[in-house]
Amino acid sequence: MIVLKTPSEIERMRSASRIVAEILEVLRSEVKPGVATIELDKRAEAEAKKRKARPAFKGYSGFPYSLCCSLNDQVVHGMPSTRVLVEGDIVSLDFGVVYDGYYGDAAITVPVSTVSPQAERLMRVTEESLYRAIGSASSSNRLSDISHAVQSYVEQCGYSVVREFVGHGIGKMLHESPQVPNFGEPGRGVKLKPGMVLAIEPMINEKGHDVKVLSDGWTAVTCDGGLSAHFEHTVAITDHGPEILSKL
Ligand code: MG
Repeated sequence: MIVLKTPSEIERMRSASRIVAEILEVLRSEVKPGVATIELDKRAEAEAKKRKARPAFKGYSGFPYSLCCSLNDQVVHGMPSTRVLVEGDIVSLDFGVVYDGYYGDAAITVPVSTVSPQAERLMRVTEESLYRAIGSASSSNRLSDISHAVQSYVEQCGYSVVREFVGHGIGKMLHESPQVPNFGEPGRGVKLKPGMVLAIEPMINEKGHDVKVLSDGWTAVTCDGGLSAHFEHTVAITDHGPEILSKL
């Protein structure tokens, strides 16, 4: 069942999502060669505490960290570690909080210093696919119009869409109905309605779409070793069109 949110609930989700956006900007400024990803995790946790928010991922199905840090060929759910960032890496930072009873969730992929033109383009196309998806999240459309917006654009750019992980409804729970795939024919699925709040999150691979989960039980990587990028926003569908809640 899809839970529609009232305007006052959306207001609370705006607060939670804004906290996520603020913290991701802090983390972005901390991404540089020599920084271990575990330091980013600690920083994310401290910044959440400062804002009286609780990190959403820590303890979620047993995930031991506050932040997901996915490097290079890691797709999502990478574990922070003592691995130090080096110039040329790309790192996806996925972060969520619960605040005042509601969740916010967002992700960015950040270059470590100077990266290859290929990595740069993958990030740019992935971010653009998110904005195209958001642009199609209006109440005259159906759910799969969002999915199709991502897939048609990234495939036209020569990339592939991860199938195994999808976006999701969000609210009083981190993962609510509906699932929001990043692939599919247009015009299918539920009609989008004002009050729906979705975490839209394209995960885009440079090469093939196949992914596998490492033996840590969490880290998803591309099977062919190609790079992967991930951008996410929490988006409310309103009478006036989509509103990005996780922005500054
Ligand atoms: Mg999410």
